[in-house]
Amino acid sequence: MVGAGWAGLAAALALAEAGGKVTLFDAAPTPGGRARTVALETPLGRISIDNGQHLIVGAYREAIGLIERLGAGHLLRRHPLSLSSPAGLSLRAPRLPAPLHLGWAALTARGLGPGARGAMLRLMLGLRLAGWRARDGETVAQLLARFGQPGPLVDRLWAPLCIGALNTMPGEACAAAFAAVLRDTLGADRAASDFVGAEAPLGSLLPEPALDRLRALGAEPRLREPVRRLALRSGNPGLPDRWRIGDADFDAVVLALPPWSAARLLEASGVPAGPIARFEPEPIATAWALWPADAAPALPRWSLLDEEPARDRYGQWLFDRGTVAQARLAGIVISAASRLDGVAAERIAAGVSAQLADAFGGPPPAAVKLVTERRATFRCTPGRPRLRPDHLRGQAPGLWLAGDWLWPDYPATLEAAVRSGGEAANMALAAAAATGAPNATPRKQTR
Ligand SMILES: Cc1cc2nc3c(=O)[nH]c(=O)nc-3n(C[C@H](O)[C@H](O)[C@H](O)COP(=O)(O)OP(=O)(O)OC[C@H]3O[C@@H](n4cnc5c(N)ncnc54)[C@H](O)[C@@H]3O)c2cc1C
Repeated sequence: MVGAGWAGLAAALALAEAGGKVTLFDAAPTPGGRARTVALETPLGRISIDNGQHLIVGAYREAIGLIERLGAGHLLRRHPLSLSSPAGLSLRAPRLPAPLHLGWAALTARGLGPGARGAMLRLMLGLRLAGWRARDGETVAQLLARFGQPGPLVDRLWAPLCIGALNTMPGEACAAAFAAVLRDTLGADRAASDFVGAEAPLGSLLPEPALDRLRALGAEPRLREPVRRLALRSGNPGLPDRWRIGDADFDAVVLALPPWSAARLLEASGVPAGPIARFEPEPIATAWALWPADAAPALPRWSLLDEEPARDRYGQWLFDRGTVAQARLAGIVISAASRLDGVAAERIAAGVSAQLADAFGGPPPAAVKLVTERRATFRCTPGRPRLRPDHLRGQAPGLWLAGDWLWPDYPATLEAAVRSGGEAANMALAAAAATGAPNATPRKQTR
C-alpha cells in the first residue's frame, strides 16, 4: 500500500482483514492525508484540530460504517438537515419519512425569494424523473438555468451547496456530480441528509484507530517513508511479476494517492500516467476562529454565511466546534479558494473576523488562524477524467489505484475515498484468488 489517507487505510484494512500481509507506506508522519489532525499554535495555547473543517452527511454510508467498525462511532452526532444563514435563509427537514421530509422542508423554507419553493421542487422532481442524470458536459449553472431556478435561490442555496460539495464554482462544476450528491442526500431516505458532526478531531475518527487495527492484524505501517519509484520485477518463468519498493518485493501494490502524486510516481517508474495527469487541484481554506471559552459570542451549531468577496466577506460556512483546550473554536470554510490567490492571509483573517461580527455580534475572535490546503480536492468539472481502480490493469499488472478521484460518480469526498479503497482491495483480492493465492477473499461492498 502506498498512501495512508482514508482511501489507503480502507484498502489496507480490507486486505489485512482478508489475511493479506500488508505494508503501508506514507510520506507524512501521521496518517489521514487530506483529512487529518493538526496541531495549531494559537494565542490561547496549542490545540489539536482538523487540517480543514469537513462536513460528513448521512449518505456517507461506507465512511460512517468504517468509523463505527473501528469503534469511533460514539464520536459522531447526527442532526436532521437544517440550513440557515444570517441573511434570513431557513430550511429544515423534520424527522418525517422520505420524501415527506424534503417536501416539508421546501414548503416551509424562508428567505429564498419569490417562486423559490416551487422551483426547488421542480428541480428535485425533474432530476428524479431523469434518473438523477444531467446532460453530457453540463455545468451546474447550466442545469440550474435549465430548471428555471430564480437568482436568489441560486445565490443563497444552490451555489453554496455546489461550492461546498464540489469545491468548484457553479459555472465550471459538473452537473452530473451535483445531481449524484442531491440523489444520495436530499433525494434519498431522511437519514441520508443528516448532518453528522464530530466531537473530536478527524484523526480520532478513522486514521488513528485504523492504524491501531492494522498493527493488531500484523500489518507494517511505514510512516515518513515517501515512495519515489516502483520497479516491476518480472522474468521468472511460471512466477507472477512482483513490484519492488525500496528493498522489498510485493505481489500487488495499491497506489492510494491524490492523482497528481500518483501521476508523478508512475512517470518516475516508467509507467505513462495518461489521463491521471489531467486532474487539476483546487484549494480550500479553513479559518479557525478562537475566543476565550468564557468570552465567545452565541454561535449556531453550523450556518451558511453570506459570502461577498468584494467586501472581504470570504466565509461560506461556519461550524461551531465547542470548547477545545480553553478556547471556543469555530471553523469557517472557504471553498473554491483559488479565487483568493494573491489575497494576503492577514486580509482574509480580518475579513472573516468582520464577517462573524456582522453575522453574530459579540466580541471579535482573539485570533483567526488560516489553514490553506493548496491541493484540497480535484476541480470537479464535467471534463475531468473518469477512471476506475483497475485503470492500469493492461499496462501495469498488479498495480491498483485508490483515492477520492476513483469513484467517478462523485466529487472528492471522504466517502469516495473509502469506497474506492474498498473497491481496489476487492479487485486485488479477486486477482490474487484467480492466481490461487491463499486468504484472498474479497469483502462485500455496497455500490
Ligand atoms: C480543507 C479540506 C476540506 C475538505 N472538506 C471535505 C468535506 O467537507 N467533506 C468531504 O467528504 N471531503 C472533504 N475534503 C476532501 C477529503 O479530505 C478527501 O477527499 C479525502 O481525504 C481524500 O483521501 P485519499 O485517501 O483519497 O487521499 P489523501 O488523503 O490525499 O491520501 C494520500 C496519502 O498519500 C500520501 N502520499 C502522497 N505521495 C506519497 C508518496 N510518494 N509516497 C508515500 N505516500 C505518499 C500522503 O501523505 C497522504 O497521506 C476536504 C479536503 C480538504 C483538504
